[in-house]
Amino acid sequence: MTTVTKTEGAPAGTGPEGFLSVRDLSVRFATEDGVVRAVDGLSFDVERGRTLGIVGESGSGKSVTNLTILGLHNPRTTTIDGEIVLDGKELVTATEKEMEKLRGNKVAMIFQDPLTALSPYYTVGRQIAEPFMKHTGASKKEGWARAVEMLGKVGIPNPAQRAKDYPHQFSGGMRQRAMIAMALVCDPDLLIADEPTTALDVTVQAQILDLLKDLQQEFGSAIVFITHDLGVIADMADDIMVMYAGSAVERGTVDEVLRAPRHPYTWGLLNSMPRLDSDLSAPLAPIPGSPPSLLSPPSGCRFHPRCAFRDRVAGDRCVTERPLLGPDRSSACHLTAEQKRTIFAEEIKPRLG
Ligand code: SF4
Repeated sequence: MTTVTKTEGAPAGTGPEGFLSVRDLSVRFATEDGVVRAVDGLSFDVERGRTLGIVGESGSGKSVTNLTILGLHNPRTTTIDGEIVLDGKELVTATEKEMEKLRGNKVAMIFQDPLTALSPYYTVGRQIAEPFMKHTGASKKEGWARAVEMLGKVGIPNPAQRAKDYPHQFSGGMRQRAMIAMALVCDPDLLIADEPTTALDVTVQAQILDLLKDLQQEFGSAIVFITHDLGVIADMADDIMVMYAGSAVERGTVDEVLRAPRHPYTWGLLNSMPRLDSDLSAPLAPIPGSPPSLLSPPSGCRFHPRCAFRDRVAGDRCVTERPLLGPDRSSACHLTAEQKRTIFAEEIKPRLG
């Protein structure tokens, strides 16, 4: 059984509850080597019609958070604490039967690799029609008509004919469009997109991102968009949450976080991004070191072993005291607000160009 503990109320300073409201979420996995604390004390909200971009390196807890929202963890090895409320419905304590009703209906997911979501044995049209028939009680004929309609909406030419094709008869970009059609077929309130364009070339990626934005306008869904690419976030999201080692370290609107980032880890991410106008022969500046083991995460600030600014904080607070994320526009770092502004303006921004 999944171990579940409900948290009483919301932690202070997480703002008003959104359409999706996550409070003090912790996810731990039992492994042969010990307990992995994959997500630790995470709180955030997403409003209807808005896109939250979650960014961070591999292992930062982005994907685990979203699989938890969808209730897709192995119940025998996972312990979940905290609260996930979607449109008033608590998901952490929901039964598998209740989650089955929600998945593909109220909440849908677009994966990085369409081949993991599309079966090679059934036509694309059938695979789009099935969740619609299951959740709405529509007939086969109605389901098929809806599948053709959705393929048309996501820009597949000649959808009535192409609905009869199998996934291998589609190009990579078309398969991604088909998966988006499948995710949106029941008009979900929340769409979770996990690196949905990483495997695609740049032109197709831009087309898919534009398509998602158009469909969000039409369907009014809330979107949680996971990526390691701040450029994609800048294009897609309204709000950003930066994650490191299972926790959020910075959040704000896209404009706030990208124009005036306040956390040393966000500075590192920005600094390690290739830029169109940069000297292509110059090496990128990756963040030194690697993300910590979540079996035994560092004490205090989890970023402290990699942080170039910890000597600016008085005493050994960075090593002993865990910085907390405050309300709304906030970063979890012991530097003062003045230090964050000055360091960014004088030391980081000139490097970013
Ligand atoms: Fe760096 Fe200290 Fe801020 Fe952590 S709390 S990001 S170690 S300055």
